[in-house]
Amino acid sequence: HSAVAWQGTKKMAVIDVPKPKITNPGDAIIKVTSSAICGSDLHLYLNFMPGMEKNAIMGHEFMGIVEAVGPDVKHIKVGDRVVSSFEMGCGKCFYCQRGIFSGCDNTNFSKAEETLYGQHTAGFHGYTTLTGGHPGGQAQFAHVLYADVNLLKVPDSLPDKKVVLLSDILPTAWHANELGGVSKGDRVAIWGAGPVGILAAHCAFFRGAERVVLIDEVESRLSFAKARIPGLETLNFKEKKVPAALKEMLGPTAPDVSIEAVGFHYCKSWVHKFEMAAMLETDPSETLNEIIYCTRKGGRIGVVGVYSGYTNHYNIGAFMEKGLTMAAGQTPVQKYWKDLLKWIEEGKLTPEMVITHELPLSQAPQAYKDFNAKTDGCVKVVLKPWQ
Ligand code: NAD
Ligand code: ZN
Repeated sequence: HSAVAWQGTKKMAVIDVPKPKITNPGDAIIKVTSSAICGSDLHLYLNFMPGMEKNAIMGHEFMGIVEAVGPDVKHIKVGDRVVSSFEMGCGKCFYCQRGIFSGCDNTNFSKAEETLYGQHTAGFHGYTTLTGGHPGGQAQFAHVLYADVNLLKVPDSLPDKKVVLLSDILPTAWHANELGGVSKGDRVAIWGAGPVGILAAHCAFFRGAERVVLIDEVESRLSFAKARIPGLETLNFKEKKVPAALKEMLGPTAPDVSIEAVGFHYCKSWVHKFEMAAMLETDPSETLNEIIYCTRKGGRIGVVGVYSGYTNHYNIGAFMEKGLTMAAGQTPVQKYWKDLLKWIEEGKLTPEMVITHELPLSQAPQAYKDFNAKTDGCVKVVLKPWQ
């Protein structure tokens, strides 16, 4: 069957690979009907993430029909229409039991990650060997561990485009709001008008935020978001300095909450080394420092943009003196997806608003190019492996 495979910096190919097989009693095999490209895939596309191997199968945001299940699978049956979570939890370990599925102890045994971070995190689909090196779902078939935990049944009444983003970026947008504690009346600033930032704005209004400002330099993305989210305000950081502009827009006692939906692939001071000695000079355009600088005293910061290793000269002084709270993390998808599905069914959340392209798998190499360059109006691509 066909799959999108990593070849090196800015190089993807569609290749023939063996069909995956059940290898553990809790597994499932999925015939993939939709599979999105995520901003996290750009870290791999740009070759910024350690631990990539040639021909690694990409993709962690997918759904489809269950093709086979192992003997221990209880709640998922062959023929079920399901969404797969980007990270895999076992459902039983210390972390999964506490809803920290992205910290699962049993789906990734990367020694390298343990050395770097003190503990290893959960296994991801279609990511680097640091997160287990599991083959991904930008493919006609995909292999899922612990199917009962990591697959969500979805009703036939909802088309793929309404539910496929439950696999990652809708829960991630929600997680950003949870981490920042967004609630009624809050004035929220969101860095990054990619699909994650746009859906974070959508979720913020749903939670009762009073004002939401979305920040980016790509004007087409800002106007795209504004056209879809009533009440949204935008700020182009190429035109205006963010700290002054935010003060002017929201007043001196805001933002109450800041959300980081950018990530290290835009971060000039990020270094591809895990040694303090290799750190570079301060870069004032550093997103995290700008966020710390802009957030009001006592405010909260939710970081879902992905970081790997060190970023430079973190402004711990401003963070401490202003009494800020910052929380970060990969999303525990399984903790949120049932509620989010319900709100999609009720028409309260419409994550499909970000999808601009639905393309056959064969066009994946071009789609990666456009998504990275933000050309061709590209905000979110969904690949269709059987078209
Ligand atoms: P994306 O690359 O499409 O969007 C990021 C946007 O940030 C781009 O539009 C870019 O122009 C903008 N940007 C760059 N520098 C900026 C700056 N200094 N200030 C404001 N905006 C800036 O990616 P995406 O798909 O929207 O994902 C966003 C981030 O979320 C990525 O880092 C991705 O890895 C991460 N992510 C995290 C999780 C999680 O579980 N935590 C899940 C999915 C994605
Ligand atoms: Zn993702």
